[in-house]
Amino acid sequence: MFRRWLALLVTAALVAAVGAVGVSSAGAEAQRRAAKPYDSILKTSIEDIQDFWSAQMPAVYGVRYQVLPQSQIHAYTSKTDMPSITECAEGGATYKDYKHNAFHCPLDMTVNYDNEDLFPGLYKEFGAFTLAQVLSHEWGHVIQTQTGTEFPAPVLAEQQADCFAGAWVEHVDSGDSKLLELDPGDLDKGLAGMLEFADPPGGDPTNESSHGSGFDRVSAFQEGFEGGAQRCAQYTENPPLIQELPFQSATGALQGGDLPFKDVLPTTKQDLDSYWGQFTFGGQPYQTVSDVVSYNPKDKGSLPKCPGFKTSEYKDTILYCQDGDFVAYDRNLVRSVYGEFGDFAVAVLVGNAWASAMQTRLDITGDDKTIALQADCLTGAWVGSVPIDEEGTEAARGGPETREAAFSLSPGDLDEVVQSFLAFGNPAEDKALGTPFERMEAFRLGFLQDEQSCLDLTGS
Ligand SMILES: [Zn+2]
Repeated sequence: MFRRWLALLVTAALVAAVGAVGVSSAGAEAQRRAAKPYDSILKTSIEDIQDFWSAQMPAVYGVRYQVLPQSQIHAYTSKTDMPSITECAEGGATYKDYKHNAFHCPLDMTVNYDNEDLFPGLYKEFGAFTLAQVLSHEWGHVIQTQTGTEFPAPVLAEQQADCFAGAWVEHVDSGDSKLLELDPGDLDKGLAGMLEFADPPGGDPTNESSHGSGFDRVSAFQEGFEGGAQRCAQYTENPPLIQELPFQSATGALQGGDLPFKDVLPTTKQDLDSYWGQFTFGGQPYQTVSDVVSYNPKDKGSLPKCPGFKTSEYKDTILYCQDGDFVAYDRNLVRSVYGEFGDFAVAVLVGNAWASAMQTRLDITGDDKTIALQADCLTGAWVGSVPIDEEGTEAARGGPETREAAFSLSPGDLDEVVQSFLAFGNPAEDKALGTPFERMEAFRLGFLQDEQSCLDLTGS
């Protein structure tokens, strides 16, 4: 986040790094074909992805899907002679040029993936389903080639591929697949895997290789998950809002767009007051939360008293205490979230506690999970109203700004939202308050629409 009055209008030219194409003699080394623990699930996933498109392409585009035979799907390693597997590896391109990558080549209708670095690494960290999800994105590009779909900017093609991936994953999640089933937590691991491939903060969405920010990728994926391939096909006339923001100032780029730690809480509180101050609560004007206090969970004497909270529950938490109308936070947690993810991850946690306070003022009732997701939605509604430019004319959700804001979003802020939900969402096994995937969906609802769409969740 950028403090508005600190805005420095110096434009930093961001030079996109262009990967050098190495020249080497085409090695005649035999391809290493070591079996991998995920080989069989990948094979099944590819079969399922192709089944999915055999049904969807006629339904959505009115044309038949041409199944890719095994000979057009390649796992490559450092031992692979790249030009021998794909026409896209022209001019003596080597493994180095395709390391940590997976790609579709439209010239020869192949799908190729790095089976030495990328896939083993992702498998170790996130499991086999994330690999299938990466391939389903590449298949999105296959569909674009087969349907002749073109976009004015590469990032839109990437967004549509993410959307198509979401549509396929939903088909598995809903039990439509004859071959695959999701394990609990697969959706959340898929989100985490997407962040790995997101462009670094401040990336230029018009750049050739841009995939969009983490938030953009997750948004497109969830759009496909919710609306199916049909929605993704509409991206040609009705493209999604791209939130990836270039850094606007040299200072911003240097600090990674983060406010100094000491300013994060006061600035966030100021902006929450500005946002919630627009509304009335059962006919009453807005009243700010009485206090924001910090504590050290190791020091029992520092814990604020809140009926219903056990001493053991104060660790790693930021909470709204209804009884005393205050927000309290574990200062070690907030420090480490700031250090690990950035200022906006902290702001989102505070915004979430604030949303709980507003739900109390509105006398909202419902089951715990709906209430928790509504708070996530309201947090999204607030963030969607924050301006994205330092002059403060345009809100993040794409309309004109309607209020005086205390800060503007900086590149990477929305990715910090995703990271925060991944870190603080509940594990899939615990269905009480919503998984990271469900929490992101709720956040996006508020972000893209407004507070009323969140209130509708409980019929308020
Ligand atoms: Zn792509």
